[in-house]
Amino acid sequence: MTNCPLCIPDNEQVLWRDEVLRIILVNDPDYPAFCRVILNRHVQEMTDLPAEERTRLMQAVYAVEATLREQIQPDKINLASLGNQVPHLHWHVIPRFANDRHFPDPVWAPARRQGRPHQIDTDRLVESIRVRLAIA
Ligand SMILES: [Zn+2]
Repeated sequence: MTNCPLCIPDNEQVLWRDEVLRIILVNDPDYPAFCRVILNRHVQEMTDLPAEERTRLMQAVYAVEATLREQIQPDKINLASLGNQVPHLHWHVIPRFANDRHFPDPVWAPARRQGRPHQIDTDRLVESIRVRLAIA
């Protein structure tokens, strides 16, 4: 793909990066801890990946999920891999609260109420993700 926005990242807030993937903060004011795990190279489907990279990608998704559960105690975590608009493998990791802007609908649905965003400590997120991926 020539103009894939995930192949040519612009202004991303990267929390972690290695040779396989990067983890970014999505910068959504309603969901300040919304993270995205993005494969570095342009691959469309999970089953296009060698098993080792598939495992590494999911380890990163789980590291983010565990970090968010520990640090902000959401009511639910949403994991989503869609890629219909941008067919470059990436996973959304979205902490959800019963009083958030769209709950219980997906964050992409019409809003149900005014959101009440929680606070996050980005340095603590980075440290926890780093520790979890180092031992994975
Ligand atoms: Zn791409």
